[in-house]
Amino acid sequence: MSAEESPKIKYERLQRRLQEEILSKYPNPERKGCPGDAVLKALASRPFDESVEGDPNWEHVTHCSECYREFLGFRSAITQRDRTRREAFRWGFAGAVVLVALVIFLFVRGTGQNESKRPQNAELAYIPRTINIESMTRSATAGGEKKPFFLDRDREALTIQLPVGSKAGTYEFQLRDQADRVIVTKSATAAINDGVTAFLIRVDLSGLQPGQYKMEVRQVPWDWDYYPVVVR
Ligand SMILES: [Zn+2]
Repeated sequence: MSAEESPKIKYERLQRRLQEEILSKYPNPERKGCPGDAVLKALASRPFDESVEGDPNWEHVTHCSECYREFLGFRSAITQRDRTRREAFRWGFAGAVVLVALVIFLFVRGTGQNESKRPQNAELAYIPRTINIESMTRSATAGGEKKPFFLDRDREALTIQLPVGSKAGTYEFQLRDQADRVIVTKSATAAINDGVTAFLIRVDLSGLQPGQYKMEVRQVPWDWDYYPVVVR
């Protein structure tokens, strides 16, 4: 396997070798002609792309192992500080982004809630009505005739409340006219809430003639139960 080094690794290797050379080849224990910390710091904090060519101080630093060591120390401290600042900025920015996203989320959710409270156009067109089969069954078993349900010639959102003990599941709803023709067929899933089994259907009765009809309800696949209905 040939380990081709990337340009970056090659650059870093050469740089390291150059640095080691300067650090070892120019000992200056007496610190002859050294420019001092302030100059070293200034050199270290200068942008990498700024030319140092012909700068006598730089010339000294690159030919004085002691100064170069100090220069590297200052530069690494500055690089570290810059990185920390960049990180802080980035985290600050990320935090701001999260905050903005949260505000937008809450705002959208807030308006969404308002919207769901407000009836939609489709909801507005359907008049909610509850048909309580339980109460009718009770009156019928008490010896009376089944009293008819009254429906309007309208779009109706019907909540069909089933007799107590009815199981959740798939139910069918039919409306038949006096000639026993099926006018409306609907299928829905009943659920039990607070002990009441019910399902919801939407029916458009606006095209019906006023009169007597028959409502049939069954849990699939069981038999139909029928109830009289008067459409007004
Ligand atoms: Zn020096």
